[in-house]
Amino acid sequence: MVIGALTQHDLWIAPVAQRLQRQPVRVLEPEERTIEAALRPKNLHDFVGQHRVRKQLSLVLQASRMRGRTADHVLFSGPPGLGKTTLAMIVAAEMNAPLRISSGPAIQHAGDLAAILSSLSEGEVLFLDEIHRMSRPAEEMLYMAMEDFRVDIVVGKGAGATAIPLELPAFTLVGATTRAGLLPGPLRDRFGFTGHLEFYSVEELELVLRRSAGLLDLKVNSAGFSEIAGRSRGTPRIANRLLRRVRDWALVHGIEQIDARSASAALDMYEVDKRGLDRLDRSVLEALITKFGGGPVGLSTLAIAVGEEPETVETVAEPYLVREGLLGRTPRGRIAMAPAWTHLGLAVPDGVFGQDTLDLFGPDTEDEESAADWISNTQ
Ligand code: ADP
Repeated sequence: MVIGALTQHDLWIAPVAQRLQRQPVRVLEPEERTIEAALRPKNLHDFVGQHRVRKQLSLVLQASRMRGRTADHVLFSGPPGLGKTTLAMIVAAEMNAPLRISSGPAIQHAGDLAAILSSLSEGEVLFLDEIHRMSRPAEEMLYMAMEDFRVDIVVGKGAGATAIPLELPAFTLVGATTRAGLLPGPLRDRFGFTGHLEFYSVEELELVLRRSAGLLDLKVNSAGFSEIAGRSRGTPRIANRLLRRVRDWALVHGIEQIDARSASAALDMYEVDKRGLDRLDRSVLEALITKFGGGPVGLSTLAIAVGEEPETVETVAEPYLVREGLLGRTPRGRIAMAPAWTHLGLAVPDGVFGQDTLDLFGPDTEDEESAADWISNTQ
């Protein structure tokens, strides 16, 4: 499209594309990124676990292939490291389509998104990681793009502003989020398929580790695999990371075949305990118990006490601590459950939650009055 002597590319695509190039899409160490890429399963067959999501996704993709159409937009949600990016890459591979990767934080203006969308090719898969962190105007532009494969580009400001419609090629959006609850309804509704990824069982993580050990040419026996899997917090990314730490330890100690003892010695050294809690998890529990008497305490106060961002505590540490029954979320804030005391080697005081976890997930508001009611009803 030509606007006066300037092309659309000169007007906004080129400057925005330059800005996007400077923005990091993911914050992983370069070494970690290379190894992750090498260990990523390339097709649904090699993707371990998540049976339900895998089966449903496989059907969605197969049907689109049979119809000769681009696949429906897909959303993956779940804690970090469970395979959302891997699945996005698999969607592109299974559809035999090119893949474009960006993320919510990199799209702060509608123009950023317009630049990406307008340069997609027919059938391309666009992966937007952390999609809940996209700016509002970009999100609104995305609604129309997802539904009608069209965007309106606003040129100029105030009374003289004009909206120029721009047709887009058919594409498949794959969104990933660690916070599905933060996605506005209209955006969530525009995905044809949503897959929620669950933590992996120890047996599934053993399979992930076996596959990775094979690719890294590492010798590990069955007991060694289960020792590492048991400390991996239900998360393949952590399993692979721990495997590499154990590999380093074995190399330095001249150990050829890794068994339970060497895996355990290595992971103890890296402060990953038997239950898979790392330093951040333990400091969250320690702060909760020693500084706030077990809670309830608000998320942001807790995050300040451990020197982390609230989002890190909420998305990285909490899901696993909650799943393990060590931490509870109540309307008034976070509380330590009885097993948290035990895990830290402390005596469990009277009246601590822990035996009954059924009612813990009340409204997530931290509203004092309803919380007081709720607490007294559950005691
Ligand atoms: P997310 O995007 O959810 O943070 P990734 O897709 O980046 O997670 O996965 C992190 C790492 O874990 C990848 O290197 C990948 O090799 C591994 N991984 C994740 N899920 C699986 C799985 N189901 N099977 C095998 N490896 C997996």
